[in-house]
Amino acid sequence: MAFQQELDLYLRARFTLIVLITPEEERAVAEVRKVCEAINRPCLSWDAGDGFEKIINWSGSVPVAADAKTALEKIDQHDGEALFLLHDFHDIWGNAQLKRKLRNLAQRFRYTRKSLLVTTSSNKLPAELKDIAVVVEFPPPDSSELETVLSGLTSTPGVRVQLTPLGREKLVQAALGLTAAQAQRVFAKAIVRDGLLDDQVIDLMTEEKKQIIRESQALEFFSASESPADLGGCEVLKDWLRLRERAFGQEARDYGLPAPRGVALIGIPGTGKSLTAKMIGGLWHLPLLRLDVGSLFGSLVGESEQRTRQALQMAETVAPCILWIDEMEKAFATGDLDGGTSTRVFGTILTWMQEKTAPCFVVATANDISSLPPELLRRGRFDEIFFLDLPTYVERREILSVHLRKRQRILHDFDLDGLARLSEGYVGAEIEQAIIDAMYIGFNQGREFGSDDIARSIDLQVPLSVSQRERIGALRTWLKEGRAQSASFRESFDAVQQFVPLDIRQP
Ligand code: ADP
Repeated sequence: MAFQQELDLYLRARFTLIVLITPEEERAVAEVRKVCEAINRPCLSWDAGDGFEKIINWSGSVPVAADAKTALEKIDQHDGEALFLLHDFHDIWGNAQLKRKLRNLAQRFRYTRKSLLVTTSSNKLPAELKDIAVVVEFPPPDSSELETVLSGLTSTPGVRVQLTPLGREKLVQAALGLTAAQAQRVFAKAIVRDGLLDDQVIDLMTEEKKQIIRESQALEFFSASESPADLGGCEVLKDWLRLRERAFGQEARDYGLPAPRGVALIGIPGTGKSLTAKMIGGLWHLPLLRLDVGSLFGSLVGESEQRTRQALQMAETVAPCILWIDEMEKAFATGDLDGGTSTRVFGTILTWMQEKTAPCFVVATANDISSLPPELLRRGRFDEIFFLDLPTYVERREILSVHLRKRQRILHDFDLDGLARLSEGYVGAEIEQAIIDAMYIGFNQGREFGSDDIARSIDLQVPLSVSQRERIGALRTWLKEGRAQSASFRESFDAVQQFVPLDIRQP
């Protein structure tokens, strides 16, 4: 609908050269036909294979032109209003004579009711045409269009359908960002493979999207299967996320709920920020895209912003999804040393976060707030900013349980209380490491490992809370200023605040 309105507007405003970027020529032509029908504009298409062909409202004879040059000449000679849909013209982008001809026509048509619409799958427009052409990106099909594609298939005789209503909605959601032809191919693949369409097609659809993402170097696709049970502690954060579990569905939209925008996770390394990002993907059953901020930086002027915009656009085509901006402080650590590039990349991300309409939930993680621009964490940018602190006693006990269970051990065999007490000041990653170290010892001695081995490994490690005491202190001071919410329950959190690691260990 939005595309039709846009094209209608350009035609009425007498834009004479419109470049339509789309990999879906057929669907685009169908939309253009609808617009021409509505405003009663004659429309003719031309391609290198079939020459000129009528699209709609064309009454006179159809000119003949076997090549692009002749086609442009015939168009020039035509009297009366018309829209000419030109395919295969990106092939002439290297031909100076034809480019000039196209430019001249676009200029001359200003005083006529003739317009040229060039379809192309690439967004590379020759410099000579940039100031005269208006570039329109043809949007991928929305959920109602995909629903039509799906209905077309499910009503075909002989196709067995076992989709639950929720599965059907999720399937259409998962297909968002794909072209109609791509979506149709995935549906068809499932029917051929399994003989029916059921909820498992959603996974197939996700696979197809991964393929798209692989084309972008700055984005990495995760099929996250982590669940809240994999993250020990952080109950406040988990409750917050559970409350939003159904926030991207139709029901939530019907209720009038806005889609959540994003969350920032701040804390020292190893407290489970990355794990949380993956867990959100698993909990909400949404694709998780990791944005590698470092790879956005290019050597050419303007390249970094361009890459940033491309990556963000790519994420939008996969929406609803989770965009995980990992260790975002790294991107901004260069400050003014890079001629303002990082500031501009940062600006591009901020503007996008503010203006995005696609349901892309941003999870930004940071180990250090000192190098982050204060605007980033301003209220309103994220739905919530969570601080992941050193785990409390209860949390450490849970983390121990999570990792022992993960390694198929029986919890009763271990002194969880004693180990939780002993690991005060250790983060989740350090506790996990202690278990792994203990397992190595047991394994090499040809016996099962036990609580004593873990206790020894804990003792041998110097935790970050000791080696980076100042940094943690600074983070906590920042937290005390009320700028973030604790990911853990407040009562236990206060107890942790009183923890002074240097009392027990010297770095
Ligand atoms: P961060 O992103 O905060 O630096 P990670 O999420 O990468 O930390 O943590 C590394 C690993 O440590 C995780 O993959 C997980 O195995 C373990 N870990 C950290 N925190 C927790 C926790 N709260 N519960 C369970 N495991 C944890």
